[in-house]
Formats: sequence, structure tokens, C-alpha cells
Amino acid sequence: MGKIIVFAAPSGSGKSTIINKLLEEYSSLEFSISATSRAPRGEERHNVEYYFLTPEEFATKVAKGEFVEWEEVYKGSCYGTLASEVERIWAKDGIVVFDIDVKGAQNIKAKYGDDALTLFIMPPSVEELRSRLVSRATDSIEQIEKRIAKAEEEISYSSLFDKVVVNDNLNVALLECRAIINDLIAK
Ligand code: 5GP
Repeated sequence: MGKIIVFAAPSGSGKSTIINKLLEEYSSLEFSISATSRAPRGEERHNVEYYFLTPEEFATKVAKGEFVEWEEVYKGSCYGTLASEVERIWAKDGIVVFDIDVKGAQNIKAKYGDDALTLFIMPPSVEELRSRLVSRATDSIEQIEKRIAKAEEEISYSSLFDKVVVNDNLNVALLECRAIINDLIAK
């Protein structure tokens, strides 16, 4: 079995920026593209950020047992990791990078144990998170409120993670992530 690094964080915590930067820096890291039943947002492309499926297509894959884990992260929106993604990346000797919700992260940890390292990116505060989501301007006010409520719930799971990195200053957070990844690679 290969190695896995799982990132989880409330949306707006800067997780995507951190993951994208690390993926650029480390050729051994490879992003596991999740499947989702939600519609693409902004510039998102099929097969790049997500495999965008209809709710029916998603349900069929669940029934066929094609997911390593899946969750209804937001009401009516399912997200899941396909077993084929993990196999594809391990076949190339890559370290699988997951960007999944807190429950999915715990499911991966339970399934892969010491082969998986779970890392929680913590926003400096809920107020800061709200202003980041507002300035991102991709969600309606109603969706932002939904994400804030979700964020508070997600933060309550942070103590279950192997590592927690606070993203107050991006460069400091990146330094901490690099140290964690270097340790994982050396293991
Ligand atoms: P967004 O809609 O902002 O792209 O993602 C919403 C949430 O779904 C994020 O917390 C993200 O980490 C989570 N997510 C994305 N892919 C997966 C997945 O494959 N499994 C699980 N459990 N959660 C996922």
C-alpha cells in the first residue's frame, strides 16, 4: 500500500490554495479527484476539480460499491472518493492527496490507518472565514450562512486529526505543511 495525506478544513480556510501550492512543489503528491453530485461553480471543470455526476449517476456508483468513502456533505450534495483514483495514483508510486470533509477524513483514517496522515487546516476565526467567503463572491448569502454553520461543526472535529495547521499567515502555514509532508515522505 502507498501513502495518503488527507486535508480537511472548513471552506474558505485557504485549504485549496495550500493544496495547490504543495501539489506544484512536490512531484510525488497527486490530487485525488472526487466525484460530486453538485453542479460546477465558477471556473470549475469536469475531470479537473471534480468528476461532476448527476445525482442518479452518483447513486449508481454507490450501489456498485465504487467508492472508498462518500458523504452527503451538504444537504442534497454528495461527494465521494472513487477506489479507482487511489489505485491510479498508487500505481504511479504517488502519494494520494485528499481534499475531503471531516467525516470522510476519519473514514479514510479508519480504513488506511498509519498509511494515512490527516491534516486539518484551521481558519484563524469564524469572523475571518465569513469575510473570506463574502469576498470570494461565488456563493449566495444563504449558501455562505450554510457554510459558516458547517464550519463551526467541522472545527469541532479538529482534535481527531493527526495534525492541525492554523492558516492565519499563508507562508507560515505552508512551512508547517512542508515539514509534515517531508516527514511523511521520509517515513
Ligand atoms: P465544495 O463544494 O466547497 O467544493 O466542497 C464541499 C466539501 O466537500 C469540502 O469540505 C470538501 O472537502 C468536501 N469533499 C470534497 N470531495 C470529497 C470526497 O470525496 N469525500 C468527502 N467525504 N468529502 C469531500
